[in-house]
Amino acid sequence: MIDIIQLLPDHVANQIAAGEVVQRPASVVKELLENAIDADATEIKLIVKDAGKTLVQIIDNGKGMSVTDARLSFERHATSKIRSAEDLFQLNTKGFRGEALASIAAIAHVDLKTKRPEDELGTAIEIEGSIVKSQDVSVTPSGTSVAVKHLFFNIPARRNFLKSDTVELRHITDEFHRVALAHPSIAFAYYNNGSELFNLPQENYRQRIVHIFGSKTNEKLVPVEEETEVLKISGFVGKPEFSKKTKSEQFFFVNNRFIKSPYLNHAINAAFEGLLKDGYHPSYFLNLTVDPKTIDINIHPTKTEIKFDDEHTLYAILRSSVKHSLGQFNIAPVLDFEHQSNFNTPYNYKDKTASAPGVEVDKNFNPFSEGSGKNTFSYKQTPTASWESLYVGLESKGNNTKPNFGEVTFESDSKSESIFGDGSIETTKTTFQLQQKYIVSTIKSGMLIIDQNRAHQRVLYEKFLKHITIKEATSQQLLFPLQLHFTPSETKIIRDLKSDLEHTGFVFSELNDSEVTITGVPVGVPESEVSIILEQLISDVENDVPDANFSSTDLLAKSMAKSLAIKNGQSLNSNEQEHMVNSLFACKEPNVSPTNRPTFITLGVDDIEKKFM
Ligand code: ADP
Ligand code: MG
Repeated sequence: MIDIIQLLPDHVANQIAAGEVVQRPASVVKELLENAIDADATEIKLIVKDAGKTLVQIIDNGKGMSVTDARLSFERHATSKIRSAEDLFQLNTKGFRGEALASIAAIAHVDLKTKRPEDELGTAIEIEGSIVKSQDVSVTPSGTSVAVKHLFFNIPARRNFLKSDTVELRHITDEFHRVALAHPSIAFAYYNNGSELFNLPQENYRQRIVHIFGSKTNEKLVPVEEETEVLKISGFVGKPEFSKKTKSEQFFFVNNRFIKSPYLNHAINAAFEGLLKDGYHPSYFLNLTVDPKTIDINIHPTKTEIKFDDEHTLYAILRSSVKHSLGQFNIAPVLDFEHQSNFNTPYNYKDKTASAPGVEVDKNFNPFSEGSGKNTFSYKQTPTASWESLYVGLESKGNNTKPNFGEVTFESDSKSESIFGDGSIETTKTTFQLQQKYIVSTIKSGMLIIDQNRAHQRVLYEKFLKHITIKEATSQQLLFPLQLHFTPSETKIIRDLKSDLEHTGFVFSELNDSEVTITGVPVGVPESEVSIILEQLISDVENDVPDANFSSTDLLAKSMAKSLAIKNGQSLNSNEQEHMVNSLFACKEPNVSPTNRPTFITLGVDDIEKKFM
């Protein structure tokens, strides 16, 4: 009997390993981006041609490699990132398997150029299918450039298996998004076939999200921040009305690494319960920071799955934090965590006294310490309905939440409440109008400048929202019914919003495919404005297709506020000015317009004094 077992030659072993690591050009992009980040680069450029089938190149300004390291980096199990198995439990790098470069070089042509900042000259290596074709001294900038050409050139079956350029580019862009989102402090540029797809400067997390997903994203982000013994959460969730039919805006990062976790995803869905239409998915961009000891990222070759030591605790914290954020920002109709929220009758306004929401986390609780049963982890929650407190002005004394005046700083923080707390600005007699656009008033610490249009939008928005939600608006009857004509798709929009519109005070006698007949309008709405309001509403809906019932309410209130708010250029007498100031500061969120723009600014005496220096 002859022995039949042989050791596979290296290049065959590498090809087999490559099958695990490299499924498509996007896998190369992921591995190379991660290497650049592990090398502490602050600027990373991704260049692809033909969706990566012809070229994937990554250029970084990181720490580079010595001559020997450059050569060794292509060996299998060659890594600078761990030295012993224990290191696996302390991982702060993306890579650790030492497989990526070896695998990629086994199935492509790779040109590496690298130089350490401290070296005069760098190294250039060319490898084709694991065979080193050349190695030279090279004049090259500090950092590393890896160009991967003709991927799968020696595995035609794999190459033929690749999808269209559109699909492959989509995969590359997905990887790019994940890495770029996890590292906002690194600048990234991304080109395909010579055209720039992204150019992201070093920035903060919100800016990074907005740069990637578009400027409209900004207003939909609700911050989520939580810090407990076992887990730190920071990031954003999307407001429910911006939920999507796809899951394309769902991102979990654990210790800066993108991961997929159906379990934690479930926690988010649970937090959004009752706020989303069937088939819609919330957006989220959440960074979780945990002790590397408590996770195992080694269970999947492409490392997007992760095992947590204590999933149940993470689930509970995540769900509560997201729910809390949604509540705090007046997104969720009901904040009572224990209580099942009923979406159809959420606003039982009249019968309740509202108080501000609050969450208390027992920061001393450590589920890992002896004697604390894991299942005893819980949130102490004050059952409140923040949404309702919208309409109660500023009197509500929450146990840990104060009215939020955003950036405004008055003489001292403690005074800011007394300035507006009882709804009286002590200097109301001294308002005047500037350029028929701003209302100027003095406050203790200096000067208050209000944008009249935005302020009025805020006031009207909260008023309409209140009317719609508590269904208590009064309507004024028109002497003659008002007949308006629309296209079928436009009347459909009005029909969809009919009951909300009725709650603001509209009365419809006829609503068919082409014609709308109105017999009553909200009190205070001039008849001449009615068609403008409806046209504005239709265009707002068309431009911002709402995803849930919830949003149509919000959208209607915003749209009507926009139509009816006094415009710039309108002069106001001193009574009107005073009334505007008082109504604005009786609002729940006086500091921003319904579209999130500042409604007023303050100019402190300090600032004024500086100008005189
Ligand atoms: P791993 O990242 O798992 O260590 P790789 O095959 O991806 O394995 O890389 C092997 C080694 O090559 C890395 O450990 C690192 O030392 C070095 N290396 C790879 N890419 C770069 C880079 N862009 N800059 C500096 N060093 C790099
Ligand atoms: Mg690597």
